[in-house]
Amino acid sequence: MTHRVALIAQNPDLPFVFDAAGPAGCLLTCVRLPGVPFPPGLPNVEAMTELDIFGDPAGAHAWLAGRHADRPFDAIVTLYEAAGPFTADAARRLGLRGVRPDVARICRDKHRQRDAMRAAGLDVPGYRLLDPDADLAGQLEGLRFPLVVKPINGLSSQGVSRADDLADLKDAVDLVRSVNAEQLARYADARHAERTGVLAEEFIDGPEYCVESVSSADGTTVLVITDKGNLQGPYFEERAFITPAPIDAGVTARITGAVRAAHRQIGIDFGASHTELRLRADGTPVLLEIGARMGGSGTVHYLVETATGIDFLGAVLHQAIHGVLPDLRPTRQRFAADWIVPVTGHGAYAGLSGADEVRRHPATRMLLELMRPGKAVPAWPRFAGYPAFVLSEHASYEDCQDYHAWLAGTISIAWA
Ligand code: ADP
Ligand code: CA
Repeated sequence: MTHRVALIAQNPDLPFVFDAAGPAGCLLTCVRLPGVPFPPGLPNVEAMTELDIFGDPAGAHAWLAGRHADRPFDAIVTLYEAAGPFTADAARRLGLRGVRPDVARICRDKHRQRDAMRAAGLDVPGYRLLDPDADLAGQLEGLRFPLVVKPINGLSSQGVSRADDLADLKDAVDLVRSVNAEQLARYADARHAERTGVLAEEFIDGPEYCVESVSSADGTTVLVITDKGNLQGPYFEERAFITPAPIDAGVTARITGAVRAAHRQIGIDFGASHTELRLRADGTPVLLEIGARMGGSGTVHYLVETATGIDFLGAVLHQAIHGVLPDLRPTRQRFAADWIVPVTGHGAYAGLSGADEVRRHPATRMLLELMRPGKAVPAWPRFAGYPAFVLSEHASYEDCQDYHAWLAGTISIAWA
């Protein structure tokens, strides 16, 4: 029996969801964003269309409704952060399972998430929505530097920066303002009370983790906790992910408890989610944000499956189609990692230097090249996509760290 699944705004360079569709018995109808070409020959794709889900959501909903009336979809899913609200709306309109639309919208608004975390009794840093046009110094009551300044509906850390004093803060606010105007305003549909804006919050100085989980009416199940390093800023270009993180049972329990409480408070009761957090010096987790979607446009499927044996994407597709989650017990114990080739510069991308050596290393499982030669790459904290992911598998956390140190000296961007 084949299940027809609409896949919204997928990054076609990441193979995971296309590969997982086959074993899950799915054929995909891909709704791609304007300007995102799909290579030919992607597996398990039966149809493809370009729809401007942000510029013309009504047109995109109408197209989906027409297809659904003809040959019904069994599920509609997205792994793309910005497409969460559209996909939740579409699921509701088509009578399919999904994240509740209001919940999807809270997850796209870092200020509303902060309010929810505080309401759940969780430790939150001091935070404030800033009016960028008013005197900044007058808006800092109760907030202590260093601060992190970010767009409230941002993604991929673009426009996020650390401010150590008032002069930094002014620059950081200007940065967010321009990133909002250039990039993020298009995602904020005012008819649904979606907004851009500038959020300031206290910098939590401690190790960072991300948590992959899946939720149902029975609650939230944490699958893995991943080490994200300890970026100090001023910008937060993501670098290295190691699963599982080297933390003890006590810290694991505290993180799991905070993640579950925040999911309950926000109302995430369906599908994959991706939570980011840091630990205070006393081990208290401070959640940074939750995305009601799979992390890394599906890349975390690799981390979860390699580290635990759990077929994460298979489980999520199964739940979307059948309404129940399969068995989520781990069947193996390995270390899995994703290392992102850093941008470290700007200009015209010409390719990767060192790629062949990396492909030959026995720990390397996949090198995913995500940029095309000739692409104009801006300097951080502007974001035009990740250059490449190096996915690997190891027997220990230490092996993984050694491998990442080797990668740092081996692979880099070549500029034209
Ligand atoms: P985005 O949605 O763009 O990824 P985040 O809120 O996750 O935005 O911020 C990106 C990164 O910035 C985080 O992964 C973290 O490293 C850093 N960061 C954000 N907020 C804080 C904070 N309050 N304290 C410390 N680091 C932070
Ligand atoms: Ca983030």
